[in-house]
Amino acid sequence: MLSTYVYRAGRVRRLKEGVDINQYLIDYPEAIKVCKPPTETTLEKWNDRGGCKAIDGCWVEPDGTCPHGHPSWLMAMGWI
Ligand SMILES: [Zn+2]
Repeated sequence: MLSTYVYRAGRVRRLKEGVDINQYLIDYPEAIKVCKPPTETTLEKWNDRGGCKAIDGCWVEPDGTCPHGHPSWLMAMGWI
């Protein structure tokens, strides 16, 4: 089964098995469904290129936030 990830209260969380994402988003309206977090290697590669993807896929500064208000993965993962 594929894991589901959300970003909420400043960090990325993996939903426990059996937790329904739709119900979760009702319980936590501020949560954002995100894709699988990038690997350490990917984050390093992005960092070398001087940027980083935001959790919604936008390309931003490593410590930046995209126009939609979403943080870079480096920040979401707590690396910065
Ligand atoms: Zn964005």
